[in-house]
Amino acid sequence: MELRFRPYTLELKRTFTIASHSRSATPVMLTEVEHDGRTGYGEAALPPYLGESHHSAAAFLSKVDLSIYGNPFDLAAILTDIDALAPGNHAAKAAVDIALHDLVGRLLHRPWYDLWGLDRNDTPYTSFTIGIDRADIVRRNTLEAQQYKILKVKLGRDSDREMIETVRSVSDKPICVDVNGGWTDRLFALEFIHWLKEKGVLFVEQPLPKERVDDMAWLTEHSPIPTIGDEAVQRLDDIEKVRGVYSGINIKLMKCTGMNEARKMFDHARAVGMKVMIGCMTETSCAISAASHLSPLADWADLDGALLINNDPFEGMKIVGGKITLSDRPGIGVERISC
Ligand code: MG
Repeated sequence: MELRFRPYTLELKRTFTIASHSRSATPVMLTEVEHDGRTGYGEAALPPYLGESHHSAAAFLSKVDLSIYGNPFDLAAILTDIDALAPGNHAAKAAVDIALHDLVGRLLHRPWYDLWGLDRNDTPYTSFTIGIDRADIVRRNTLEAQQYKILKVKLGRDSDREMIETVRSVSDKPICVDVNGGWTDRLFALEFIHWLKEKGVLFVEQPLPKERVDDMAWLTEHSPIPTIGDEAVQRLDDIEKVRGVYSGINIKLMKCTGMNEARKMFDHARAVGMKVMIGCMTETSCAISAASHLSPLADWADLDGALLINNDPFEGMKIVGGKITLSDRPGIGVERISC
């Protein structure tokens, strides 16, 4: 097998603001694994706040020698070796994992939801994300999200009440909120969550900074709606650390090194009675499609990352009437359409 990779930069349709920062572009690394004349596609999304970059991903991927493996169906063993090459580098590892999964599915002529025994009719609706912005822009973005059934509203700055009221002035759709760790006081957080529940909010993601474990456990115990850990949960081993601290977890391929570990995280979280959502970074349709194959297992999905960019080089999962819609194409179900 041969691994190839090259840097690419996603242009965001609009500047996107969350509790900690704003950005208008996201670096990604596109990967391909070739074997026997077939090619599988993968991707690492590298938003700067997660600590990976074009440079670090290239350095890691240069260490990955797939030519020593003759059989792509040894997927789990190959991925264990790759994980052991260096600590961290979760997105770069995911870029190999996704391309290998795509290749294996193509060799078997079957899509991954099918290989996992899942039904593509069971995919959830995806939320559509409304970033922190001026009221007129929030109103416009909410109105433009017509086809989506659930809105994900970013909070965590001084304008939180205004953000929700602005969305509510033009939409009565269910909302989920993501604070990205932007609140610091647990009593304020609890009071605000009660108000959010009255406003039709389904759950709250990462209300406090991830380090605030005891305060977070208290908040979850008292919260009238589920709490979801995102920044607090990266990989499989983290689930036991957040059990009892959050009601559920947000699984993202770029945090957990890819599809192989994400599948295990779903099983483990379910076994310990936690809710599960599947999320994304700003990504092309390649990584978004890979995550979509797991979405039938999720309570909620936030897979709108490819909708936010202008230069998606892939075609894959579609959103039809707000619902994640998978084709019967093999592997992760993508085609490269440019670059
Ligand atoms: Mg989040």
